[in-house]
Amino acid sequence: MASQPPRAESVALLAKLEAALKRRGIVTDEEIAQKQASADRANPMTGARMVARAWIDPEWRALLLRDGTAAAEAMGISMRGNPPLGVLEDTATVHHLVVCTLCSCYPRAIIGYPPHWYKSSAYRSRAVREPRAVLAEFGTVLPAGVQVRVLDSTADFRWMVLPLRPEGTEGWTEDQLTALVTRDHLVGVSLPDAGSKASRAA
Ligand code: FE
Repeated sequence: MASQPPRAESVALLAKLEAALKRRGIVTDEEIAQKQASADRANPMTGARMVARAWIDPEWRALLLRDGTAAAEAMGISMRGNPPLGVLEDTATVHHLVVCTLCSCYPRAIIGYPPHWYKSSAYRSRAVREPRAVLAEFGTVLPAGVQVRVLDSTADFRWMVLPLRPEGTEGWTEDQLTALVTRDHLVGVSLPDAGSKASRAA
């Protein structure tokens, strides 16, 4: 689904905020342009690279789980101006699902812009109330023995899921593994599967 154009009042409010920040010397036009360019460059491939590396490099994985921001920076990803990144490790018995119940908080530096459904009031409320039903609508049906943990991304902390490495990927290269991981896996609404072609629908 195409994203909605911004409303006129939002555009006017943003222009006033920008003007006020510039008048006070808090930001420059150049800094705003740089931030917009880095936001536009960010995409789920970055998070996918991080997951693939964690699957094949135990030391990197340990750093990623300890301090997601430091791990991203160590891969050359600028996390400047972003809230801390936390990484949720799925196991055979625990699955993680990420939501921002308030608005649309999302680790944009490593996944890019959030999809429209992530910002919808339906997802924001139902992910907490009935996570298994929401997962099922994404085609993800977990065994009854798997616990679902729902984490709230906030202005202070952003979450990314580290899914289980799919069976059948033994011996795969880092690039092959990266190609397997999509935005939806990084949020936890679906699971990577070596047998199906990764979908990158917007
Ligand atoms: Fe938010």
